[in-house]
Amino acid sequence: MTLELRSRPVVDQQISLLKKQCQELRKKGVIPSLKVLLVGDNPASVLYTKNKKKFVEKLGGECEIYKLPSDVSETEFLKSVERFNKSDDVHGILIQLPLPKHLSHIDVTTLVDEHKDVDGFHPLNVFKLFKGHSESNILAPCTPKGIVTLCKHYGIELKGKRVAIIGRSLIVGKPLSLILTNHNATVTLCHSGTKDLKEITRSSDIIVTATGAPEFFNKSYLNESGNQVVIDVGISKNSEGKTVGDCDFNDMKDNVSAITPVPGGVGPMTILSLAQNLLQAAKKSLYP
Ligand code: NAD
Repeated sequence: MTLELRSRPVVDQQISLLKKQCQELRKKGVIPSLKVLLVGDNPASVLYTKNKKKFVEKLGGECEIYKLPSDVSETEFLKSVERFNKSDDVHGILIQLPLPKHLSHIDVTTLVDEHKDVDGFHPLNVFKLFKGHSESNILAPCTPKGIVTLCKHYGIELKGKRVAIIGRSLIVGKPLSLILTNHNATVTLCHSGTKDLKEITRSSDIIVTATGAPEFFNKSYLNESGNQVVIDVGISKNSEGKTVGDCDFNDMKDNVSAITPVPGGVGPMTILSLAQNLLQAAKKSLYP
């Protein structure tokens, strides 16, 4: 029987923990506060920021979506980030991407103070992953951190496992390769230049797809054992306009031991990690 790695039970369990942590912080006079900088009104970004705000408020934290017009000057944009960097009442800052074209040259990874970097993009936070720190104790990139939370919840062992990650982005593939290596997995990081991809996926225990190619992967990427685990990070629309992952779920599900659905798999884990990072940053502000 294939296990569906649904995020709902994980998120529900973690929410009660995070609510408690939030209450304790409030007793000590700290209200975890997140500022989300939203430039312009890209509909997807508006929706994502709303979801983040709702989640943080559900835990008992505060979240302001700080809106800037799409033609905001670079100086004004940078000033806003700096103001939040300096404010003692702000524990987390998130710059919603993508930025409009005239700001897209800015390297956002270094803009937010490393201690408020709830996205886990700052080079100093990424370097902690290089050094082998556990993602649960640092501000780590949200999607990779969420994948490990999901695996832990469902008892998926990482130690000693061969993992194929497909996709080498800075937000998913690359940091995930470090995090899983820190968990003693043996990682092969694959991408569009990888040759004989099927050979790699078939000889892996766990396959993580993060390509954005709708329903691209099917059972031909699996071996015959039926014991492989598939974690699908992709979110896109198929030709019928339906939200799908990188994997053809129906084709693969009976040939694996566990698989994430899309939607309802990795996606919500990302917001959960963001909230975990926020509470971590707020706690650290008590004992800097
Ligand atoms: P990206 O879009 O920056 O890059 C895609 C990567 O996939 C590249 O490294 C490319 O080399 C690789 N790739 C593309 N097609 C390939 C193929 N056929 N074979 C091998 N490699 C291939 O990556 P991203 O920003 O990590 O996004 C990937 C997907 O994950 C998107 O669908 C995105 O929406 C989704 N995503 C989901 C979450 C979440 O919370 N679930 C978070 C981030 C990204």
